[in-house]
Amino acid sequence: MEKRMTCCILALFFLLLCLPSCKASDRQTVEFWGMGTLVSVTLYGPEAACTEGFAQAQALMTELDGLWSLNHPDSDLSRLNRSESGITDADGRTVALVKQAIGLSELTGGAFDITLASLSALWKTCGEEDRLPTDAELSVLLDGVGTAALRAEGTEIGKPVGAAVDLGAIAKGAAAEQLATILRRIDGLSGGLISMGSCVTVFGSKPGGAPFRVSVRDPKNRNGTVGSLTLSDGQVLSVSGDYERFVTIGGKNYHHILDPHTGYPTDSGLSSVAVVASNGAVADALSTAFMVMGEDAAAAFYRAGKADFEAVFIRSDGSVVCTDRIDIK
Ligand code: AMP
Ligand code: MG
Repeated sequence: MEKRMTCCILALFFLLLCLPSCKASDRQTVEFWGMGTLVSVTLYGPEAACTEGFAQAQALMTELDGLWSLNHPDSDLSRLNRSESGITDADGRTVALVKQAIGLSELTGGAFDITLASLSALWKTCGEEDRLPTDAELSVLLDGVGTAALRAEGTEIGKPVGAAVDLGAIAKGAAAEQLATILRRIDGLSGGLISMGSCVTVFGSKPGGAPFRVSVRDPKNRNGTVGSLTLSDGQVLSVSGDYERFVTIGGKNYHHILDPHTGYPTDSGLSSVAVVASNGAVADALSTAFMVMGEDAAAAFYRAGKADFEAVFIRSDGSVVCTDRIDIK
């Protein structure tokens, strides 16, 4: 039987709209690889400021990848996962992100959980072997899931023996926000847009004050969109979907967002969730969490004011529902 692991990691989530009034000379775009995805940075301003911006953006991306990527053997995360019970010399940014992740896990009732690394690895192996995980395999790994025993303080991150941490559902949002923060400080840049696969953010404005518009992809149609929305300065849009990345087992696709309670890919009736928030890590973590929680629980979370965000839910039947203050057309 055909075995295949499909990674749709290019920037297929958004169509970035530029109004015709933007002269190419006002705007420059550079693309590079970061956090396992294509990073695209568009800057508005004079050439020298753009050049400086691209250099700073790439340098920061390399730095954050060096801290958070599981593919870097010396990253804080790889060292943490190799360690017995934690590391004592983590970068402050890693400690802060793990701490925030623990808080978001509590806030979402465990739907968002950074301790699923071993389960994700099991699904990858099962894809390669074209077989489903056994109940025994799942239950052993599920026993080790949960952020309650993680600790992050100062330069220390502690974890239970055998636990492995994966920041893949929160790091891109955090990184996008940090890139915007350093770019905003560069003299001469009036604005810009940073797209990192499933996360996009903007800072400043376009020449003439035209808004940044971003379209959210239709999960059912690779070239279609469910609409576009305006992103204002500092807002981050994160999209999670069951079409993004998956393994194929017995001819059926099993996507990459796992329900921490069952160990299986989420099946909550949602095909995709887009979250807009001014905190990038929150936008990223919540778009993943809502895929697990489903529409009703996510709506209750919103109504309870548990975090500051707006969201678009794309149901498995293709219908779309939004929170109160999001303007998607
Ligand atoms: P995202 O694309 O931001 O929704 O993140 C999905 C990635 O986060 C997956 O590829 C896994 O590495 C990891 N992940 C999967 N399920 C969860 C979950 N329930 N909570 C946190 N991280 C997850
Ligand atoms: Mg996420």
